[in-house]
Amino acid sequence: MSSHGFDTIAIHAGQDPDPRTGAVIPPIYQTSTYAQDAVGSPRLGYEYSRSANPTRDALQTQLAALEGGRHGLAFASGLAAEDTLLRAALKPGDHVIIPDDAYGGTYRLFARVAARWGVEFTPVHTTHTDAVRAAVRPSTRMIWVETPTNPLLGITDIASIAQVARDHEALLVVDNTFASPYLQQPLALGADVVVHSTTKYLGGHSDVVGGALVLSDDAIEADLRFHQNAMGSINGPFDAWLTSRGIKTLGVRMDRHCDNAERVADYLSHHPKVGRVYYPGLDTHPGHEVAAKQMRRFGGMVSFTAAGGPAEAEAICNRAELFILAESLGGIESLIEHPGRMTHASVANSPLEVTADLIRLSVGIETVDDLLADLERALG
Ligand SMILES: *Cc1c(COP(=O)(O)O)cnc(C)c1O
Repeated sequence: MSSHGFDTIAIHAGQDPDPRTGAVIPPIYQTSTYAQDAVGSPRLGYEYSRSANPTRDALQTQLAALEGGRHGLAFASGLAAEDTLLRAALKPGDHVIIPDDAYGGTYRLFARVAARWGVEFTPVHTTHTDAVRAAVRPSTRMIWVETPTNPLLGITDIASIAQVARDHEALLVVDNTFASPYLQQPLALGADVVVHSTTKYLGGHSDVVGGALVLSDDAIEADLRFHQNAMGSINGPFDAWLTSRGIKTLGVRMDRHCDNAERVADYLSHHPKVGRVYYPGLDTHPGHEVAAKQMRRFGGMVSFTAAGGPAEAEAICNRAELFILAESLGGIESLIEHPGRMTHASVANSPLEVTADLIRLSVGIETVDDLLADLERALG
């Protein structure tokens, strides 16, 4: 498989036709348990679906192939994947560097869950490699990077942070949710573990919640596999199947997301009612050069400030029609949201707080002229 192109891998890895019936699409193994031929001899190794399920295995094979990793693990949500990784890789007293604009739920997992179990963390502006190096302690076991970030589309140089991680024998974890493996492959840039919320671009249709870890190290994989079963943080067969189905069109969807987002970012940059536009594809974006180096294109997420201030930002969100007012991102339909009062309300008064004039768009794959017309109406 690995010699094929991305779209071929997305469609075929782990997705062989059913050997019994010839069904081109592998079936959904909606079962909790498996008949055994004799005591101690389960067929094909399947015993119980928390431990292993063929539909989840098919997705895990697909995920590993897409990221160029040896192992993929699928979970009930992005946060379930993150939690499993933290419990497998960390112990009390260990220190982690996290981005100072991490996904709000990731910050909450560290600040309100992992911290209670003695894991220490420092939010750092990971865009500056020197700041990351300066924050490393003897107890630093993990460096967590998210790029592009949510909601300000900050860019971190994965290869240069990988050097810092190697120098200090810390694990480099990259949350690749915003880019998707079509646009960026962190393992090839030196990351140890890739994290996904498959709820977003991988699933791609806003109809399923899920998460994933992809890596190549066999020892870490064994530990994660043990924790996935021991903690039970798995996704169900139908959710795994929906995610696999979404993944098959990832490449064509991402290209259209990028086409549309480029047009939207350009349009907003010239609009008098818009303050700042955050899109890594704009050459005014501070991370543009690094993004151009490590990403195939610049993604489907665009954020901007309302020149009229916080009340106007909320009014713009409320006036949009085609852009649906909703949290989440990465689906085929365009979404608009007010991070300060919606997705990032949980990080108010923390280092991750965002300004109240900010609006975030998840640009979908609709006809772009319709999206621009909706923004024109919403901006008034
Ligand atoms: C949504 C998201 C997560 C969390 O994933 P869930 O599937 O919602 O648990 C983690 N990281 C990023 C960047 C996300 O956007």
